[in-house]
Amino acid sequence: MQQYFYHDILKVGDIIPLDKEILYHLKKVLRKDENYIFRLVDKNEDVFYCKLIDDNANILEKLNENNELDVDITVILSLIKNDKFELCIQKLTELGVNKIIPFNANRSIIKIKKDNKISRYQKIIKEASEQSHRNRIPIIENDVDLKDIKNYMSDLNIIAYEKEDSSHTKINYSNYKSITIMIGPEGGFELNEIKLLNELGFINISLGKRILRAETAAIFLTSLIIGEYQ
Ligand code: SAM
Repeated sequence: MQQYFYHDILKVGDIIPLDKEILYHLKKVLRKDENYIFRLVDKNEDVFYCKLIDDNANILEKLNENNELDVDITVILSLIKNDKFELCIQKLTELGVNKIIPFNANRSIIKIKKDNKISRYQKIIKEASEQSHRNRIPIIENDVDLKDIKNYMSDLNIIAYEKEDSSHTKINYSNYKSITIMIGPEGGFELNEIKLLNELGFINISLGKRILRAETAAIFLTSLIIGEYQ
């Protein structure tokens, strides 16, 4: 069932005007008729069944539904080739990540032009949140440099480091309520980046003997963490 996010608080019995973007998608893209039932998530992250009545939504029923993870995950994702970056942020959104921070790694060959790319990324994340029935839309911020990383740390902070010994001790992720993970670019992390991040308290982990693409590593590590919570 189609879902949209609504900017205010909803309650059963309300009849609220829908904004033109939702109306266009419902009527022109999905070609839905009067009385179509869909989901709205309000700014309290509450989910409601609604009925399309002309250009309005009639709020029918509040659902007792929380599809969010019990762990707050932030992914600091090095800038990589755009199509792969976009695929990765879509998948991380579906998996339940709450924050995605693009990182200008020393070996990142792609630089975001701050104005146009970020709004496109926000659109991808919003649509993935609607499709996966999230109760919230993850935050994506403008790209950051190494000096900014300290602002995005959590209870546990880990770097997926391809040069780490793969027999590395296992981490019990379910001991932590918030986790920040860092993924390097196609060319990998530079040693000076790893040293500075280790000084900040980031732990290096191996994802095994094979060298994964950045997008694979991000999705794999996020899945590994989630697996300990579900
Ligand atoms: N230089 C290699 C390359 O160009 O394929 C490694 C870079 S790898 C594609 C990009 C990022 O994915 C790495 O910086 C790391 O964060 C993560 N990664 C890939 N394989 C990994 C592994 N076996 N263990 C830990 N992290 C890995």
